[in-house]
Amino acid sequence: MANRHGPCMEKKCSWCCDPVKVPANFSDEKIPLDKEGKRIWRDREEIVVPESQMETVRLKTFDCDLLDTQTGKCSDYENRPEICRNTSCVDEKSTKSVDEQHRETLEEELIPLKGKK
Ligand code: SF4
Repeated sequence: MANRHGPCMEKKCSWCCDPVKVPANFSDEKIPLDKEGKRIWRDREEIVVPESQMETVRLKTFDCDLLDTQTGKCSDYENRPEICRNTSCVDEKSTKSVDEQHRETLEEELIPLKGKK
């Protein structure tokens, strides 16, 4: 089934997953679990800042166990966790096209934040 919220696999894009980026105050309790109850994201211990939102946004980064590093794609996309399904670089209310929003996401520079959070 096509992703209603964003281009993702239609554009062969897994930008959101490599690394996974969530707000810095994201609780570890929300990290998705595998069938054995083990967290599938591993904290990179790195905070990044989107260049266009330097003053306001801090993102925590994770490596995902389900990311296929050979293909750069989710290895279980059809069964990906709810949080992944509900994540999108596309704002359905935006006047910009999906392509334009997607391009802006990919072009956004993410700057590692050194020493402070
Ligand atoms: S489970 Fe799949 S979609 Fe979700 S972060 Fe991991 S690789 Fe990406």
